[in-house]
Parts: sequence; C-alpha cells; structure tokens
Amino acid sequence: MRAFEYVRATSVDDALAALRDPNTRLLAGGTNLVDLMKGYVEQPVRIVDITRLPLSEVSPLPDGGVRIGALVRNSDTANHALVRQRYPLLTQALVAGASPQLRNMATVGGNLMQRTRCHYFYDTAFGACNKRQPGTGCAALNGFTRQHAILGASDRCIATHPSDMAVALAALDAVVRVRSARGERVIPIVEFHRLPGLTPERDNTLARDEMIVAVDLPPSCFADRSYYLKVRDRASYAFALVSVAAALDVRDGTVRDARIALGGVAHKPWRAVDAEKRLVGRPLDGASIAAAAEASVAQARPVRDNAFKVALARRSVARALETAGAMV
Ligand code: SF4
Repeated sequence: MRAFEYVRATSVDDALAALRDPNTRLLAGGTNLVDLMKGYVEQPVRIVDITRLPLSEVSPLPDGGVRIGALVRNSDTANHALVRQRYPLLTQALVAGASPQLRNMATVGGNLMQRTRCHYFYDTAFGACNKRQPGTGCAALNGFTRQHAILGASDRCIATHPSDMAVALAALDAVVRVRSARGERVIPIVEFHRLPGLTPERDNTLARDEMIVAVDLPPSCFADRSYYLKVRDRASYAFALVSVAAALDVRDGTVRDARIALGGVAHKPWRAVDAEKRLVGRPLDGASIAAAAEASVAQARPVRDNAFKVALARRSVARALETAGAMV
C-alpha cells in the first residue's frame, strides 16, 4: 500500500472541502477502498475519515417514506424496524450481501460506491483495464468471462456491479441525496450508476466534488409481496452470478404494479422495465410470469463464458416473481 495522509473530517463541509483535491478519497467502512489500496488499484494521497459525521440515522419521512443516512451500517439498515416493516426487500438484499462482519462495517454510501469485482480490474499484473487505466484495453474480453455482463456492456468494459443492496434500491425507486459546495441534489438510483460506454472508468454520475449524504425510499406498496433471490457459486461470501429483486402489488387477482431489478448482469443494477410491463394489469399466472421472464433477458448479449447467465436470469426472474406472488 502506498503511504497516505490521514485526516478526520469534523463536518460535512470539512469533507467537501477536502474533496476539491482529486487525490483525496473519503473513508467510511473501508471494506472495498482499503482492499483497492492494498492492491495498488487506488492510490490516494489523502484519506478523509468521515465515520464521525452525523449521517447515521434512519428516520421516517412525512410522505411515508424512509431516509437512510449515508453512514448507516448495512447491518443496522437491514435490522431497522422501519426498513424491515416497510421494505423487507431491502433487508433481504442486505442480508444476502457479504458476511456479517462486513455488513457490520460497510455503510449505505460505501455500498453504492463499491467498485466492480472483475478480477482483471483488481490484479494490476494485467495491464489492460479501461476502468483502472483508461485507454489500455480490456483484459477480460480475451479472458475468463463467467462473472461478466450480459446486458448493457460495451467493447470497452464488460464488468458487473457487485452490490445487492443497490438492486433492491433500484426496484424500490430510491433516490440518492448528494451534497457539494453548490448545494444538495437528488439522483434517482437508476441514474446513479451508469453503463460503461466509452468511459468505463466512471462507475456513477456523482461529480468528483460531491458526497452521498442519504438514500431516500419513497412510500411503498410492496411490503407484502417482495423477494430478493441471489444465485451464486456458494451460499455465502460470494457475489451474485445473477440476482433478482421482485416486488408486486396485487389486488383482486390483478397486478397493479410490479418492479423487477437484476444484479450480477450489468455495469449497474438493471431495472427490467419491459418485463414489468408484461405483468401490470394482468393476473399473476404462469403465462404473465413467463412473458416477464423472457422480456427481462431480451436484450442480453452474452460473451464467451457466460451464456448460461441468460437462462439463469430468465429462470431467476420467474422464481422470484412466483415466490413474491405466493406471499400473503
Ligand atoms: Fe477492466 Fe472492465 Fe475489462 Fe474488467 S471488464 S478488465 S473492469 S475494462
């Protein structure tokens, strides 16, 4: 690890001032950043510890939603009564992610900022990685691509986003509150992470001088019927090959609203809007579930080693919908 300066922020303004220097990184739980620093993937000159800032509250919003501070630990978010009661999908996704030890350290903001687990990105012995070093190429394109994207990739990068939490947030239409010296703005979660395109070095739409201060969840009608399904190589300590966040509002036998988001398949949590349209206004039955599952992978473009993910995603969407639909 390269030597760095360590300072502790005493206020959000303090942290924002430090971010003016492009060689500065903010440290919260550190569960991803410290690994990246140990591997020389990230080499900041200065680390600003923000763990003492007052951003650790989960609180109800007047409209029936919930605000989760950026520094709330993943375990505290998952176990909070408001989250368990109103957004069990988020609790399920958080519990599916990482180990208890990591969840006790990782924060909501850090979870959103974590970087891909593409092996070629982490191993600096591979010189070609457009995400680590723009313009160098992509070692994965000629490498082992079992974990890589089947949706929304580019010829510059085929990496996937690793978060489970963000997949549930995408299904729940969360918004990310971010602050800079210019003030505060909100970014819909589906616009927070981005597809690689020509600039895969940019994981998200956060400006360099902005920091996440909270995530807001809108009121939800999905508490009774939602399910997070994570398929991985082993039962724990593994990232998703495919995950599905499914949420349904079913009344009088008809689907009034449906949300489907997939993880492990794209550079960002993948909201399957076309699949949702196959369900709304229809009864939840084998035909509508099959149509939604098919639509969820209609745009899939697998690479050499991951064609299995297309069938896996299709079946996972169907199973998640069946499970959510069978609740209550
Ligand atoms: Fe780098 Fe993306 Fe290629 Fe992985 S897939 S080696 S992160 S450019």
